[in-house]
This record gives sequence, C-alpha cells and structure tokens, in this order.
Amino acid sequence: MQPVSTDLQILPLAEWLHIVDGPLIIAGPCSAESEEQLLKTAEQIADIPAVKIFRSGIWKPRTRPGDFEGAGEEGLKWLQKVKAKYGLKTTVEVAEPSHVELALKYDVDILWIGARTVVNPFSVQAIADAIKEKDIPVMVKNPINPDLKLWLGAIERINSVGINKIIAVHRGFHYFEKSPFRNAPMWEIPIELKRLAPRLPIVVDPSHISGRRDLLQTISQRALDLEMDGLMIESHFDPQHAITDAAQQISPDELKKLLTGLIIRKKTGDIEFQHKLEELRTEVDKIDGELLQILARRMEIIDEIGDYKKENKITILQMKRWAGIINDRLSQGTHLGLDSDFLTRLLNLIHDESIHRQTEIFNKINRKK
Ligand code: PEP
Ligand code: MN
Repeated sequence: MQPVSTDLQILPLAEWLHIVDGPLIIAGPCSAESEEQLLKTAEQIADIPAVKIFRSGIWKPRTRPGDFEGAGEEGLKWLQKVKAKYGLKTTVEVAEPSHVELALKYDVDILWIGARTVVNPFSVQAIADAIKEKDIPVMVKNPINPDLKLWLGAIERINSVGINKIIAVHRGFHYFEKSPFRNAPMWEIPIELKRLAPRLPIVVDPSHISGRRDLLQTISQRALDLEMDGLMIESHFDPQHAITDAAQQISPDELKKLLTGLIIRKKTGDIEFQHKLEELRTEVDKIDGELLQILARRMEIIDEIGDYKKENKITILQMKRWAGIINDRLSQGTHLGLDSDFLTRLLNLIHDESIHRQTEIFNKINRKK
C-alpha cells in the first residue's frame, strides 16, 4: 500500500463541545419512529448526564424499498422538540443536499454522513458543496468496505469546504468471513487514521459494530482502551419493538449501566510510570531490531537453498518438509507460551515469503552463483 498523508485542519473537540471530562457520548434511537417514541426516549436519555448529543435517523438507508425509510421532515420537528425540552444537542444522518437543507432549517446541531454514503465520493462532494460556508459540525462514518483512503477522502472533502469541526465515526467494516460482529471492528484502521490525523477525534459506534446487545459493553471498553474519543450508542425506550436495528438497541436504563461500567483509564501516568514504560518500550524496540535481523538472516539462507535447489533441478515446494516445520515450530512455540493460531499465521507468512524469494531465484536466468 502506498504511504498516505493528510493535511486536515481540525478544531479540537474541547473548543467547540463542552465536555468537561471523559469521552463524548452520543445516544438515541436508530430511527425516529414517532413523536411519542422520540420524546419518551429523549426524556430518559436526558437523565444520563454523560450523554451530550442525541442521535436519530430521519432518512433511513434501507437495503430494499418498501421497508421503513424514516419519518423525514416530520421527524425533524420532533427532534426540535427534543432539543427545546431536554437541552440535548441533536444529530441526524444526511445523504444528499436536500437532507442538509432540511436539517439546517430545523436547527439540527451536527450532521452525520452514513457508511453507505461515504462509499460514494460524488455523494460526499454534493453534501460538502451544500454545507460550504455554513458553520455546522459534521461526523463522517467509515465506508462499509475497509478502505482507509476512502474514509479519509470523505473527511478531506468536508474539510476542504471550510468545515473544521469534524468527528470520524468508526462503525466497523463489512467482512466476508464468519465473525461474531455485524461489522468487523478492524481496529488497525481507526488507529492508522489517528496516526495520520492525530487531532481528528474518533467516536466509536459499538451498536453497528456489534449488531447485538451483548457485545456492546466489550466493544465500548475496547474503544476507550484504544484512546478513542467517544461512543455513539443506539438507545430506544422499547428496544425490542424498534422498527430498525432492534437487536442492537438498548434501553436508556441499560445504557446508563453500560456507561457506569466503563473503566476510564488515564492516557499517561506519573513520572515513575512514564519512566518504567519508556524502559520497557526501549526493550521492545531492541527486540524488534533483533527479530528483523534474524528474519533477514533466515531469508539469506532461504536464498542459498533456492540457488542450491535450482542447480540441482529440485522443486521449490517440499510439502513434507513444510508439514514437519509447522509441527515442530508449533510445538516449540506453544511451549514458550505463544498462541497456536498466531504461530500458524506467522509461520505461513514466513513460508509464503520464502517460496516467493525462491520463485524469484528460479525465474532469474543469469543470477550469479
Ligand atoms: C445509523 O447510524 O443508524 C446507520 C445507518 O449507520 P451506518 O451508516 O453506520 O450503517
Ligand atoms: Mn442503526
């Protein structure tokens, strides 16, 4: 993959949202279903001081036509009541310029762009053009597919029309293999985004990652342990009967319990802690250096074997030898306390590279011996 860099101009969260302490918490139903449902849910959520922003889908991107597609403009009026009655900031998903126009007309505080929209740069650009010169914060969810550049590109499009109050929302990625999650978290992607744009806040959406209530606590804790800046959690006063995403929504009471159960760890400790941490990190750096040298030495010998096999017209892949290596290294490694799944992946990776190098040798006609 080509190295990516970015030049985002981002205003730190604390400069535009008054969060005193702890993560930014956004909660509310997947969809606004009726005035009663929205106000009842908001009343209970307003009782949880940690929640600063009330979310609600007004236009729902559904897989098939004919399913509930959201309350539309009517829902924005209910949301206005939520804001007036409970003092919560509000956020809705916008997928096209007409949504932006209506959301602004009804005083929505923050817009969000959903995963299905972020996959399409034309749609994102159309939204960006619609908010040009407006002072409205925007949250950008990751695209459905695990493509960091597409996510970053959408954020850049919003940023380039002068919006610097931006939050990235990590909602997991579509994944073909069997997994307990509705959308695989693939934490390495938001972590890489943080590395590329350290000032960009990232809020995690455990609801759409999990797809089910019982995983919410673990995913939320993981998000905080990875220094993510907040959580967006779907909550409905009667989750079992929610029209959309019933399996993943929780009641405001359950939300309160979830939030209370979270352990907020400090990002840095005292001097003594820092000192010890630095010592351990130096040790890790040294070991990584040794690992790389050993790996390079292994590959040199592999090249020698390749030359030798070529000279003697022997095939590259020797299945029996490889099966023997796997068994032997797995047993050695597991005795040393290494996980066998991890070892299998690592050994296969090393083996693939060895085969690759030997193939190169076989293909080189005039290689020096
Ligand atoms: C949502 O937040 O309700 C939603 C539709 O999410 P996503 O775009 O992440 O699927
Ligand atoms: Mn939803």
